Formats: sequence, C-alpha cells, structure tokens
Amino acid sequence: RRLSYQAMRDLPAVTRDAEPIQLCINAGLVIEMPQIADTGAEGIGLFRTEIPFMVRATYPDVAAQTALYSEVLEQANGAPVTFRTLDVGGDKTLPYFPAADEENPALGWRAIRIGLDRPAMLRIQLRALVRAAAGRDLRVKFPLIAEVAEFDDARRLLDRELARAAKEGIAPPSSVKVGVMFEVPSLLWQLDALLKSVDFVSVGSNDLAQYLFAADRNNPRVGSRYDPLSPAFLTVLDRLAERCRAARVPLSICGEMASRPLEAMALLGLGVRILSMTPRAVGPIKAMVRSIDSRQVGEFLKPLLSGRERSLRPKLRAFARDHG
Ligand code: PEP
Ligand code: MG
Repeated sequence: RRLSYQAMRDLPAVTRDAEPIQLCINAGLVIEMPQIADTGAEGIGLFRTEIPFMVRATYPDVAAQTALYSEVLEQANGAPVTFRTLDVGGDKTLPYFPAADEENPALGWRAIRIGLDRPAMLRIQLRALVRAAAGRDLRVKFPLIAEVAEFDDARRLLDRELARAAKEGIAPPSSVKVGVMFEVPSLLWQLDALLKSVDFVSVGSNDLAQYLFAADRNNPRVGSRYDPLSPAFLTVLDRLAERCRAARVPLSICGEMASRPLEAMALLGLGVRILSMTPRAVGPIKAMVRSIDSRQVGEFLKPLLSGRERSLRPKLRAFARDHG
C-alpha cells in the first residue's frame, strides 16, 4: 500500500533490520530552507555556497556573507547544516571572477585549489561562517580535497578565523565540525592520516565517479558509460565505509547517487547511514529505506563486488523486486 506524501514525511527513516538512516537534503539558496520541514529531512547535508555567489554581480563581502549564512542557520531552526566552501572553477564560473583558460577544466584550477591559492577569498568566507555560527553548531567541508595536506591548510585558515573572532569578542560557535568532500581517488591512499584529522567524510559521488573512471561528468558521450553501480565504484565505497566505521568517522554520500532508490539501497548494504539528496527524492528514498533489510542487501551485494560485469544494476533491481 502506498502511503501519502504527508504520512511518509512523518515516519522515521528506519530499515526493516532497525537501522536508523539519516536523510538530509542538498540546498544552495535561502528560499530552499523550508524544504527541510516540507520533506521531513534531518537537515542540510550539503549547502553549496557557490550558488548564492553565482547569482550576484559582485563578490559578496564579509558582511553580506555573514547575513546570508546567519539567515540559513536561522531558518534551519536547529537542524544541522553542513556548509561547503566555495566550489567554483571547472564548469562553474562567477561573473566577477575570470574563468581560467584551461585545456582540462575538471582537472584544473577549481574548488579548494582556488581557495588555497587565493586565501583572502577563502578566509573571508570562513570568517563569515564563524560569525554566522556564533552560539550555534558550525559544520564546514572543503571541496575537491586531493591531499591531506590541503585539508590541513584549509583547517588552519578556519582555526585562524576562530581565533580572530575570539579576539574580537564574537561568541564562538557552540561546536565546530570540519570535514572533506571525498571526490578525488588519491585520498583512498591517505585514509590513515585523513581519518585522524577530519570530523566527517562526505562523498561527492558525481566528482568521485568522474575522477575514478576518467570520464567527464558533463560529456553525454562518456558521462553515462560507467555506472556507479559497477563493482569498481561500489568497491571503493565499500572500503571507504569500512575504514570510516573502524575509525568512528561519520560517512555521508551527497552526490546524485544518494537521490536514486536503487543506488541508495546499495549504499545501505555497504553500511552507509547518512544520505543527502535533492529534496524531491526524500519521499521515495524513505519508502525504500523502510522496505529493505540492509544486512540482507549487504549479504547479497558484497560477493558480487569481485565479479566482472560492468554493472550490478540488473541484479540489484531483481533483488529489490524480490525483497523490497
Ligand atoms: C559531487 O561531486 O557529487 C557533489 C555533491 O558536488 P557537486 O555536484 O556540487 O560537484
Ligand atoms: Mg563535487
């Protein structure tokens, strides 16, 4: 029996084997904030801060950014919000920040690379986030981290802004949690160091797939060639989930993968417990969560990871049909 949208909104996101799943939404504009309550999500797992930057004619100063982030936190009404620092370059350009002329923009000067090379810009953003979070929980993640050292450098900039705010007599955030977007495969070989320094890990599965398969996410000729439900991609996530569990570091998935029921079912089978998705996906994903036994999905899926097919989609679909 299909439940109405409203009835589903108020039901807990718990699997048949009693695993609570945290369902969050992705957002980037203040007008999207009511979607937390509308969907029944637990908070914002990914606030794309570049979106407000992209719709403006000039670079927002620290006061403008502070006002914006305060409004976001105000409207979240105590629900957690994870801000991602500016993720521009590549395919996202700002009207007042000239795009670099690059042969391979996706492999070029983008995201945290710009932030660390132009620290004044990143520091202004972090200063605004610290001020906006006075007396509230602050959650920040850095995009496209490829080396632990980049995370350390970015984290140091945040610590400097926290110290600065303290000196200026601004109330500190009640807590500070700092994490990475896991989007570049090089991080897989730095997990020992990484998991000692971060408070959480958040997989950007769109970019992770792009860089893992060397396939431009925006090029329709190759973009759909490789499936996130392939043994290769799921093995990466399986290893990562296992390491995060062992280190007790929360792991979330916030790429488009988390918005699709079959993909999200596979993620639950791998032990992922936090998903952040487009708001309209919350209902269908919650219905899936409530209909499956995550342990059974894992038992079905894990032996398939060593197989040689291009995609486990047909098998997962058959499993969902029989068990969902
Ligand atoms: C991702 O790469 O999966 C992601 C969530 O970030 P964006 O789509 O904004 O690059
Ligand atoms: Mg990304």
